[in-house]
Amino acid sequence: PTTPATRATSPNEVPAADYLFAESPEYRRLKQTMELATASGLKNPYFSQHEGITADTTTIGGKQYVNFCSYNYLGMSGEPSVIDAGQQALEQFGASTSASRVVSGEKTIHRELEKAIADFIGVDDAIIMASGHCTNESVIGHLFGPGDLILHDALAHNSIIQGCKLSGALRRAFPHNDADACGKLLEQYRHEYRRVLIVIEGVYSMDGDYADIRPFVDLKEKHKAYLMIDEAHSIGTMGPTGRGMSEFWSVDPTRVDLWMGTISKGLGSCGGYIAARREIIEYLKYTAPTFVFSGGVSPANTGAALAALRLLDAEPERVAKLHSNSELFLTLAKKAGFNTGPAHGTAIVPIITGDSRLALALSMGMFERGVNVQPILHPAVEEAAARLRFFITSSHTEEQIRQSIDLLVTVRDEVVKKIAAAGPVAI
Ligand code: PMP
Repeated sequence: PTTPATRATSPNEVPAADYLFAESPEYRRLKQTMELATASGLKNPYFSQHEGITADTTTIGGKQYVNFCSYNYLGMSGEPSVIDAGQQALEQFGASTSASRVVSGEKTIHRELEKAIADFIGVDDAIIMASGHCTNESVIGHLFGPGDLILHDALAHNSIIQGCKLSGALRRAFPHNDADACGKLLEQYRHEYRRVLIVIEGVYSMDGDYADIRPFVDLKEKHKAYLMIDEAHSIGTMGPTGRGMSEFWSVDPTRVDLWMGTISKGLGSCGGYIAARREIIEYLKYTAPTFVFSGGVSPANTGAALAALRLLDAEPERVAKLHSNSELFLTLAKKAGFNTGPAHGTAIVPIITGDSRLALALSMGMFERGVNVQPILHPAVEEAAARLRFFITSSHTEEQIRQSIDLLVTVRDEVVKKIAAAGPVAI
């Protein structure tokens, strides 16, 4: 904000950048970034329009692509029984909840899904909200406040950071997956604060690596803190039956205070949840702003998520298939000399190029040959961490994976040759 000394004293003095958005520095920055990409002859990789279900394949502009750009980790979004359940809920309950659930928007399937999520994870109860992002933002922002301390992983998702900001609590990041560093912060500062929250994620969405949750559980017990684990990318994908990090690390789920997850990824629908002790869920249901002052998750989304959860329970082999696909992808990528960073055979595998232009050129080259994979460019990540990010699903076939890695090698060789003049590149 401008200081009082430089603030305009009459409307005539207000600079255009302060009231015309097209003139604002933030909009100009966005335009410059986009123009830079087009000037280098590269196409905007964002907002491509998909004409159907995104799974192992997708259709864009009438053409079918092998797809590595979807959170549909277990193929639930296109599963006929999941679609049927969504349609049935739509017919039975309508297209909307038509009210906040607290008032008169509560449908019988809402509680059915919440109980099913709580049972699946192994805790008392759960609450579902219309988006995973809103769930983090609202719940962290609501349960913690000034005088509290939030310690989060340095690579925490935007929704966690937004929640911390909203809370007004003091926020400190500890180095990625470093429980010792988190412990040192607790030793140093715990006594100065009322409540302390530690927030980590199950699987991290940029690198596909994961946390050992056990030391964090010990820390939270030792220091009487709360522990929240965001399972956006681990529910349905980690642990032999997809129950997430508690199953993967054999940790009693009731030792974690807040299990957060999304139903927009492995569960093939749309929304977020918190699974926790009875009192926390009860409190959130009556007071969390994003729940109380917002319409409930749509009936179709609720019905579809419920069917997906039941299917996951009945078919854990989907989880095993996802992992064998990911292992195959990772092994072939490494063999071909690609830098897969700290990837661990989860549903997310990065190919780090360390150069945004290169990542974009690889993504375009793959697209021209029928493979859809998203580049992650600066400023979304540091330039040195620019990458292609592959989302692996249980629906991919071995052939799709093998052919895609072969293509990636061909495209890499072509691209590297083309830009060799600009200096050596290591991918
Ligand atoms: N947490 C993490 C770690 C995520 O990656 C995401 C979305 N990519 C969210 C929360 C938000 O989930 P949703 O898409 O359901 O809003």
